[in-house]
Amino acid sequence: MSALLEVDSLAVAYDGMRALQDVSLQADAGSVVALIGANGAGKTSLLRAISGLVRAQQGSIRFDGAEITREPAHRIVRRGIAHVPEGRRVFASATVRDNLLLGAYVDRDPAHRAARLEAAFAAFPILRERLDQRASTLSGGEQQMLAIARGTMSGPRLLMLDEPSLGIAPLLIPQIYAGIAAVAASGTGVLLVEQNVREALRAAHTAYVLQTGRVVMHGPSAELIGHPLVQEAFLGVA
Ligand code: ATP
Repeated sequence: MSALLEVDSLAVAYDGMRALQDVSLQADAGSVVALIGANGAGKTSLLRAISGLVRAQQGSIRFDGAEITREPAHRIVRRGIAHVPEGRRVFASATVRDNLLLGAYVDRDPAHRAARLEAAFAAFPILRERLDQRASTLSGGEQQMLAIARGTMSGPRLLMLDEPSLGIAPLLIPQIYAGIAAVAASGTGVLLVEQNVREALRAAHTAYVLQTGRVVMHGPSAELIGHPLVQEAFLGVA
């Protein structure tokens, strides 16, 4: 069986400057894939290429068996890829409910929306309690949960998250990752970019290490956690 997402030999450049080179990666339904690497390694560029926000120079991206490499972003969203960019961009003056419903814009079927709201509350129970509050009154961690939950409201088959734990109070990070695990357990594939390598490797089934635009290592997270290069470069183990 082919993977839900298959990236093959992808290259991306900005004004002739290579950001990604020969990148291949796979993600399956129901599993969490982590993308780790230093600042500028190309992690965000890879998510943006998959979303159709930057053009691939070479290589291909297949989703659910279809070639999407040159499709415009709006069509890729409709195929079932949701992208939650870095920086928890919620609509601050709108309520939690309205933020979530805005996420469902590609499918306004009321029964689907109701089911997705319930699934979002199952993943992030605090959002049910905050439903009528403005998003601006939530803590940073709660806003991040809202941003992720909003990403699930279109019923995506693949959810891409850029730095879900960045700037979040450490106490709330486990709640965010429990929610991400719940989203994956419901059958959605999750591809996440993290600087918080320890957390990402704990949460992910498989991981890819990017270095200056190339995949230098990939495999089951449990193996990468124990790898001396990963320990030295990312986990502070001498
Ligand atoms: P970070 O964690 O800092 O976001 P990253 O691993 O996500 O890093 P990218 O943001 O994908 O890395 O950047 C990869 C390379 O491409 C970097 O050298 C960066 O400076 C460059 N780059 C990214 N976006 C642009 C752009 N819009 N124009 C020009 N260069 C860019």
